[in-house]
Amino acid sequence: MGNQIQVIRGMHDILPADMPAWNQLEDSYRSLAESYGYQQIRTPILEKSALFSRSIGEVTDIVEKEMYSFIDRNGDSLSLRPENTAGVVRAGLEHGLLNDQQHRLWYCGPMFRHERPQKGRYRQFYQLGAETFGIAGADIEAELIFLATRFWKRLGLEDIDLQINSLGSSESRKQFKQVLVDYFRDNYTSLDADSQRRLETNPLRILDSKNPDMQSVINDAPQLKDNLDQQSADHFFDLMDILDYQGVSYEVNPRLVRGLDYYSHTVFEWVTDTLGAQGTVCGGGRYDGLVEQLGGRANHAAGFSMGCERLISMLVNQKKVKNPDTCDVYLVMRGAHTVRVAHKLAESLRDQMPQLTMLVHAGGGSFKSQMRKADRSGARIALILGESEIEANSVAVKFLREDKQQIDIAQGDLAVSLANML
Ligand code: ATP
Ligand code: MG
Repeated sequence: MGNQIQVIRGMHDILPADMPAWNQLEDSYRSLAESYGYQQIRTPILEKSALFSRSIGEVTDIVEKEMYSFIDRNGDSLSLRPENTAGVVRAGLEHGLLNDQQHRLWYCGPMFRHERPQKGRYRQFYQLGAETFGIAGADIEAELIFLATRFWKRLGLEDIDLQINSLGSSESRKQFKQVLVDYFRDNYTSLDADSQRRLETNPLRILDSKNPDMQSVINDAPQLKDNLDQQSADHFFDLMDILDYQGVSYEVNPRLVRGLDYYSHTVFEWVTDTLGAQGTVCGGGRYDGLVEQLGGRANHAAGFSMGCERLISMLVNQKKVKNPDTCDVYLVMRGAHTVRVAHKLAESLRDQMPQLTMLVHAGGGSFKSQMRKADRSGARIALILGESEIEANSVAVKFLREDKQQIDIAQGDLAVSLANML
């Protein structure tokens, strides 16, 4: 036992007991996304490393220090995907989905980032997401926001607040960068080493710093919203107008810049103060530049992705996980020669009742121990097949949760009777 191999640090097993919450999350996301007309897309977990450095950006935390990259046997540099937007765009380009068409897509799957593991931050984690293509206006951003908002509501989650901001067009972002760099240069000594480095590489990210010593210099920094060109300001106003009309509440957070390089115009995040430090449950926005950056013709794009583990924590904390359905029937067999008849009966029941959940006892054991297992399974009914039942072509039906007399039923009538009883 001393040298068992253990799971990789920062990665985790999702055990059967955890699955009700996961199923609830994934099932309701799938049906919700599809009800908005979003179609699923699945792309490989491994991609060429260049896909991520070209899309997310060389000087982002993800590409600089969080990727699981390796050289494969052909000498290609590959990476486990740290997020799925780049992969979706690559697939869209490769299969000609992004030529002037509109698309609404959703995805679900594991992502990998070599971060310091802590509660709500893992090295393999799951995301649910949505991506839209070919739609320029703020209307699609509003739709994405409505979809996510409805998702929290369907899950029954409370205390999730929406923050929005605009990064403006890439031109106005460029101009703002200069204003920002000038400001931080004037305040160079108030910056920590990380931010001094970012001043050269990715100055917007300084606004995102969590260092308490830097909060006042950040609070006094020039704001994006005061540096938007007219068109960018109009776009942002359109979004707020649709949200206001629908009565969705939000806060404009001028410091919201998001970690990835490819965003422009609208960015948004949903945050909660119920999860401690890892409080962002969903982030997204517009990334019009990305398709072109990856070699396609310029195309509009907007999307979001949410962290499943953080949402699962919220579901558990807020006691919103519904009890899973337990099994309907447990089939018990008595006597040495009943196994094959029991299985024949069980398979015929499954033919007739595709919805039935039935555990067929396996592994032998006394009648008493089988009945104990039947009870523990949560089944409502135990079917008992012994030699005398086989002789009579019947089966005994014992009600495990109700105060009702045990009855014998002809095997031929069993499916119809069970359907009435369950
Ligand atoms: P954070 O600021 O928490 O690092 P991020 O900006 O890096 O988040 P995104 O790349 O926008 O995150 O990913 C979308 C969502 O995925 C996040 O809001 C979060 O809920 C979840 N997420 C991101 N990284 C992790 C991780 N290492 N472990 C678990 N969930 C994560
Ligand atoms: Mg991060």
